[in-house]
Amino acid sequence: MMPAPPAARVIDGKAIAVALRARIAEQTASLPFKPGLAVVLVGENPASAVYVRNKDRAAQSTGLLAQTIRLPATVPAAELLALIRQLNADPEIDGILVQLPLPDAILPRPVIEAIDPAKDVDGFHPLNVGRLQDGLDVLAPCTPTGVMRLLAAVGKPLRGARALVLGRSAIVGKPMAALLLAADATVTIAHSRTVDLAEECRRADILVAAVGRPEMVRGDWIKPGATVIDVGTNRAADGQLVGDVAYAECAAVAGAITPVPGGVGPMTIACLLENTLKAALNRRLARH
Ligand code: NAP
Repeated sequence: MMPAPPAARVIDGKAIAVALRARIAEQTASLPFKPGLAVVLVGENPASAVYVRNKDRAAQSTGLLAQTIRLPATVPAAELLALIRQLNADPEIDGILVQLPLPDAILPRPVIEAIDPAKDVDGFHPLNVGRLQDGLDVLAPCTPTGVMRLLAAVGKPLRGARALVLGRSAIVGKPMAALLLAADATVTIAHSRTVDLAEECRRADILVAAVGRPEMVRGDWIKPGATVIDVGTNRAADGQLVGDVAYAECAAVAGAITPVPGGVGPMTIACLLENTLKAALNRRLARH
């Protein structure tokens, strides 16, 4: 009988997120103030409503002061911008998050750029994007920050490791590459125009997939022993949640791998809370 292939270590994002949230709660409890997070939800997108509810709950359970501000999809852009200016000026608010996507009638860029960069807990403001590219310590986007925490939990050195980031979105791929570069990995970014993607992937000690294509990454794309992080969240035809990585095939080759669900997803919210705490400490302690 053929021996079973060695199983990869499963990176338990849920447990790592619980531990991170506990640390945030402990630190928050020791502060003489409660960090404040304002989440703005425009319109009725059902997925966004679920995300926002989860963020609100997670923030409350960590001892942050969270408020969700709901606006109708028909709200004029000027009114949304006025709300952001008001939140920027509010001393009790440390973090502002405008849930994307916005309704078609509202351009996202002016909204993102209206947020005070010091309160930009999503890390999407161009000032934070630029600082991140410069390798500075900033409020970095939550999903790639969560991936860095997962890689830290795996414990393999990032310095000098070959990292392949599959996807180049502003939300995941590009900031992911910047964070890996800042950690001294040798980073390649692949995308829909990349020639021979499988071969690029096979060179990677660390593979981060953020494509939005169900189970696109196959087992024979994985370097034996590599760390595989699956950011993808896709609905399969049967309604099941699947990642961008063909899990069983890749787990048979990888050294460590994240499941979907229970990998990157829980880390995103935990890192939002971490960013809110960080923004609060930066702002409030800088004042004294
Ligand atoms: P996105 O904006 O649609 O970007 C997808 C990227 O994948 C693009 O750069 C695109 O290349 C590339 N791509 C698409 N098809 C490809 C192909 N066949 N071969 C190679 N590259 C291809 O997506 P995103 O916002 O980064 O999200 C990616 C996935 O992560 C989605 O499943 C999303 O739901 C998930 N996600 C999860 C979390 C979480 O918390 N777990 C957070 C954010 C996103 P081009 O640039 O050339 O078009």
